[in-house]
Amino acid sequence: MVHFVGAGPGAPDLITLRGAELVKQADIIIYAGSLVNPEILALARPDCRVYNSAEMTLEQVLAVMEGAPDADIVRLHTGDPCLYGAIREQMDALDKLGIPWDDTPGVSSFCGAAAALGAEFTLPGVSQSVIITRMAGRTPVPERESLEQMAQHDASMAVFLSAGLLEEVQASLLRGAYTADTPAAIVYKATWPEERIIRCTAGTLAAAGAEAGIRKTAMILVGEFLSGSYERSKLYDPAFTTEYRRGIEP
Ligand code: SAH
Repeated sequence: MVHFVGAGPGAPDLITLRGAELVKQADIIIYAGSLVNPEILALARPDCRVYNSAEMTLEQVLAVMEGAPDADIVRLHTGDPCLYGAIREQMDALDKLGIPWDDTPGVSSFCGAAAALGAEFTLPGVSQSVIITRMAGRTPVPERESLEQMAQHDASMAVFLSAGLLEEVQASLLRGAYTADTPAAIVYKATWPEERIIRCTAGTLAAAGAEAGIRKTAMILVGEFLSGSYERSKLYDPAFTTEYRRGIEP
């Protein structure tokens, strides 16, 4: 059986209890290269066979899975496998091969980056939506989802896979609804010991990234949720009645 497992954003204790158990029991682990913390691999049994999928094609990954039909195989992805994990093509191929699989979620790096900043994406009166997206690179993005299009919403945004394209990211954000003053942040290796936080604005993103020398493994966050102003929540407002609590008019 193949277990897709989210390794979390980096810190080894941010994998789920279920994910850690699967890693400990695995006969084979195929992990997603440098974005998976080696300390998680250290949980594996000494006789576990370990493969780095950064050096493999989909066919080679599937050959390992097909070659060990009775093994417990962990396919270890970074963050949560459901975002930019290329899991669907693996699951579909496994279905065709008649190999069962399951999927254990993980803490995505956009959550790890928010935690590093102490930020909440969904502030009342500011934004109630998070756009998870990327800049088009060698992998194209559908035209209607271009960063410029997504930036029209002025919502909270987490931009994956784009730290090497900061000039283009900045230009696209500014062609959308963000202004040069909209707060932004680059979070490099969130939750790893070498984590770095660079606070900037949509207008200074490229210069801030260049100055810090950041080209990869970083999350770009942008939106007014990174600024100081917001409304307090209704849920915890003394005047607000809920199923569990009667509101008191001031
Ligand atoms: N499935 C993963 C994303 C894989 S795509 C997840 O849920 O997080 C790889 C991209 O994720 C990187 O280019 C970077 O933008 C982001 N990323 C992964 N780990 C990160 C971390 N610890 N800190 C900041 N960004 C990270």
